[in-house]
Amino acid sequence: MNKSLPGAVLVTVGDELLLGDRADTNGGWLAAFLTQAGFRVQQIMTVGDDHAAIQAALSGAIEAAKGGVVVVTGGLGPTQDDVTREAVADWLGVALRSDPQIREELEVRFRNRGIARLPTPNLRLTQVPEGAEVLPNLAGTAPGLALSLGSKGSQGGWLFLLPGVPVEMRALMEKEVAPRLDRVMNPRPTPPASALIRTSGIPESALAERLEAVLEGTPGIVVQYRPSWEGVELRITSSAGPDALSSFLAEANETLAPWQYGGDGSSLAEAVIARCARVGWTLAVAESCTGGLLGARLTTVPGSSSVFLGGVIAYANRLKTSLLGVEGATLDAYGAVSEPVAMQMAAGIRALTGAQVGVSITGVAGPGGGAPHRPVGTVCFGLVDAQGREVSEQVYFPGGRDEVRERAVQHALRLVYQAALTRIKA
Ligand code: ATP
Repeated sequence: MNKSLPGAVLVTVGDELLLGDRADTNGGWLAAFLTQAGFRVQQIMTVGDDHAAIQAALSGAIEAAKGGVVVVTGGLGPTQDDVTREAVADWLGVALRSDPQIREELEVRFRNRGIARLPTPNLRLTQVPEGAEVLPNLAGTAPGLALSLGSKGSQGGWLFLLPGVPVEMRALMEKEVAPRLDRVMNPRPTPPASALIRTSGIPESALAERLEAVLEGTPGIVVQYRPSWEGVELRITSSAGPDALSSFLAEANETLAPWQYGGDGSSLAEAVIARCARVGWTLAVAESCTGGLLGARLTTVPGSSSVFLGGVIAYANRLKTSLLGVEGATLDAYGAVSEPVAMQMAAGIRALTGAQVGVSITGVAGPGGGAPHRPVGTVCFGLVDAQGREVSEQVYFPGGRDEVRERAVQHALRLVYQAALTRIKA
């Protein structure tokens, strides 16, 4: 970590975050935003809607931020349980004043909605700690507030209070807070150059092995591995500058090509659609245990209609036969979860839709239905590409029903992605 960067500490406020009713997405988003803006995020704290807890967090935060910035989100609303602004004013030792401009804007907003009188609870939104600057919130009713921490200890710094609603918090951060950070914290050292590589279908240890040689030739590069069921994400950071990063990435891209996708932050489905579009492929899917998840994933990509034609969910064997042409004899001989059936499903959907590429999934997602030779988590895949090349695979996925189905979708996407790479290289 670069110690010369100014510090930042984030405090997310809300009982619902502590009860587990809602996941804290603000902390992660703000951490990425401030890191990108050249700060070193020191801590992310979550506290309840509680006066004393907010004040204790603030005291810790100002210490850790060391003259940088403290951002607090949540608890600025109109109800009695929203206590952030009172807690902050008390902690700073300043009074709350009613801001006439906030009041006027709220009254106009409510009048436009046909409400003649501002509901009393909303008067709380007009309360501003003395010395605070008001940050207009165009997406919601609770404005943000900016305060200098000059009076709290020798190191100074800035405190921003933002509403908890993620979309409002983000808009305020981008439109109001970012320009102020540029003014008060200038000049900031440039953050280390960094990049993201997403991979799928290769374990962490195999990735590390492949990258070892590349790393030897490029000092100053640090790779962090973040595995999940979607694959392994790599965060590459260069303390030797952007040129070192570029030369590392050029070599890493070569080594990891079969598994790598989404360097620009795109998902595997997006990468599949882009790669199929590049080689001029159309695609159709035949799904059994994933019940349409693969089609759903592909259709989340804007513009997927240029590649994805559609699919069939053939859960019952009868439909595998009647819709996809899977032979009864193949089902009898190998069972529905088998590579021969998966191959016939892929060929069937290709014939049915006229797509250039057909891909299929048939598996045992569990919790029932497993057998000694075909335990829960066994999934078979088939793919027939535009050149008539066939690929079939049987894979075992660990985890519960949801995880097996999600992993199966990811695997099928990867099969298409890799088949299209073969086409690019051919
Ligand atoms: P408003 O008055 O505009 O509602 P507020 O500052 O009072 O803003 P909260 O009442 O704390 O905000 O939260 C509003 C909504 O935003 C709630 O649904 C809450 O669960 C959600 N929210 C608050 N903080 C977070 C967070 N850190 N991550 C994700 N969601 C959050």
